[in-house]
Amino acid sequence: MSVRVRFAPSPTGEIHIGNIRTAIFNWLFARSQQGTFILRIEDTDRERSTEEFREIIFRELDWLGLDVDEGIGSGGSQGPYQQMERLEIYREYARILEEKGKAYPCFCSPKELEAEKDKARQEGRDSVYSGKCRDLSGEKRARAREQKTPEALRLMNDERGDVVFSDIIRGEISFGGSTLDDFVLMKSDGSPTYNFACAIDDYTMEISHVIRGEDHISNTPKQLLIYMALGWEPPEFAHLPLILDKERKRMKKRSHSSEVYISGYRHQGYLPEAMLNYLALLGWSDREGEEILSREELISGFSLDRIKHSGAIFDREKLDWMNGVYIRNLPLSELRSRALPFLQQEQVNVKGSALDYLLLALQEKVSTFKEMAEMASSYAGPLQYEDQEKARQVFGQEQVDQVFKYLQEQLGGLEEITPEEAGKVLKETGKNLGVKGRLVFPTVRWALTGKGSGPDLNHIIAFMGTEECVRRLEKALEWREGE
Ligand code: GLU
Repeated sequence: MSVRVRFAPSPTGEIHIGNIRTAIFNWLFARSQQGTFILRIEDTDRERSTEEFREIIFRELDWLGLDVDEGIGSGGSQGPYQQMERLEIYREYARILEEKGKAYPCFCSPKELEAEKDKARQEGRDSVYSGKCRDLSGEKRARAREQKTPEALRLMNDERGDVVFSDIIRGEISFGGSTLDDFVLMKSDGSPTYNFACAIDDYTMEISHVIRGEDHISNTPKQLLIYMALGWEPPEFAHLPLILDKERKRMKKRSHSSEVYISGYRHQGYLPEAMLNYLALLGWSDREGEEILSREELISGFSLDRIKHSGAIFDREKLDWMNGVYIRNLPLSELRSRALPFLQQEQVNVKGSALDYLLLALQEKVSTFKEMAEMASSYAGPLQYEDQEKARQVFGQEQVDQVFKYLQEQLGGLEEITPEEAGKVLKETGKNLGVKGRLVFPTVRWALTGKGSGPDLNHIIAFMGTEECVRRLEKALEWREGE
């Protein structure tokens, strides 16, 4: 059987990381099995679905490199791939079910249904539809239609036993028959419910495995009942563990607004390959326990049986570490092109070899490109001592004036300098003056950057250029003399 999986987002907002993780697992499964990855847009919620949100779905999939085999703009023979364009298909299956006596029209008003629910609540019962319209006579139906009473279509659910299915991740799952009522398939506005559209689409698109978030488990028995009513073989199901925060609570939109959408990570300068790697490990692990895995390694190592069923904890520190590893592995040309938009945002206008030296210095130090740009801006901007008292103390030490003057002489004669040359000059300064490196390096760092610690000094000198270094050393000397 060929593997066909789908990612079926609703275009109703930014993409939650839980959803994008679902997309990643589907994509990895498809790629690992030479299967097909389908993108289906579930836009039946007319009020909340927008074109703009649909574009966001394409944008984020594209950013992560999750290429779609079938979907809008990607071709495929089982389309359309957007639910609002499939209404005729749902209506056709609704008609078939009604004809087979597996579904019936319901004329109950929202008010009546609400009253039923209230009553059940008061009596402490599960709220299930009473079945009032099940056995309406043909005459009553005709009258209701004549009066243009809004009409929904409900499943004639005669299944009284438990609905059981075997989930690939969670094993056997069973739902008590008494909680499953004659639920609505088609709403009175002529649109399908999520469960109906989903079952019809998964079947007609020949989906082999439904891989989705655990929050959809309770929908699965309803979808199975629809399959049964139509006499169809259901697909396999795999429900992914929820993504939890460090307090083991579900990552909700409100409480973690900057952390729950994939776009937030893009804006902060996380690399797509690092995000793909990190999110793939949220609920799944590599057989060898490797953490840094390339796209190809993820694909070749992926299997559904290594997905855990307990909640996956989103650990921001681990993500930062991982992104840092990816940043450090970038060759200079890539580093430059990826950092550029972030540098522009921070108005860092360094160019040419100075930019390269700065990026190479910061590459070792940062977790994200936003952090890199902020640091770059502080090094490229005017000199500011982070602690004036400390600076005075540092510059006031014995022999510091000798060190700075010597360096000024050495650097002053050069038009530009490479990090290697800067390293040599610093070393020779100590040697020729008989001063310990312990004195040279920190004092020079304070003079040049105004900070007590930071990226590699050789690169900082090369980035700043000899002229600016001489000027900053002079300023430090003035401070010292000001004592
Ligand atoms: N549109 C649903 C969602 O975004 C899809 C659920 C499913 O995969 O069946 O949650």
